[in-house]
Amino acid sequence: MDRGPFTCKREGDVFLVGGPIDERAQLQPLLRWATAKTLVLDLAGVTFVNSLGVREWVRLQAAARDAGVTIELRRVAEVLMYQINIVPAARTASVIRSFFATYVCDVCGNEQSELLDVARDRSLLEAGKAPAAPCSACGMGAHLSEAPELYVSFLSGGSPLR
Ligand SMILES: [Zn+2]
Repeated sequence: MDRGPFTCKREGDVFLVGGPIDERAQLQPLLRWATAKTLVLDLAGVTFVNSLGVREWVRLQAAARDAGVTIELRRVAEVLMYQINIVPAARTASVIRSFFATYVCDVCGNEQSELLDVARDRSLLEAGKAPAAPCSACGMGAHLSEAPELYVSFLSGGSPLR
C-alpha cells in the first residue's frame, strides 16, 4: 500500500492529518492552531504509524497537556486507533469522537470499514461490544473483525496488552 507523504490541511477549525505518522510527522506545530484550548484533528487519512511516529504522537499529547489544550480526535484511522488503545500515553490529552474499524461478513467474507461514533455507541462500546452493521456486499450482518479491546480500551483507561 502506498503510504503517501505526511500531509496536514486546514478546513475551518479542523485539521486533516494524513499519510504516514513516523519520525517525519510534524505534529507538535499543530498546537499553535488550537482555538479556545481545543485542537480538532480529522485522522481519517492516516495510512501508517510506526514506533517513532507513536513517540511523536506521545510528545504531542504531552505538549498539549502542558499547554492546557484538549485534542479532539475525529474519524481516527484504524492503524492509529490500535496505537492509541495500546499506549495510554498516546491519549492523555485527547478526546476520541469517532474512529474507523474493519468489519467482516461471515456469509460472504466481505470486509468493510465502519465509522463508529463514540457518543452514539458508547453504551455498547463500554460493554466491549460494537454495533452491528449490514454487509455492504450481501446485506447480511457484518461484525468487528478484531477483538473489541483493540478499539475501545481507551474508554476504560486500560490497555488490551495489560
Ligand atoms: Zn456479506
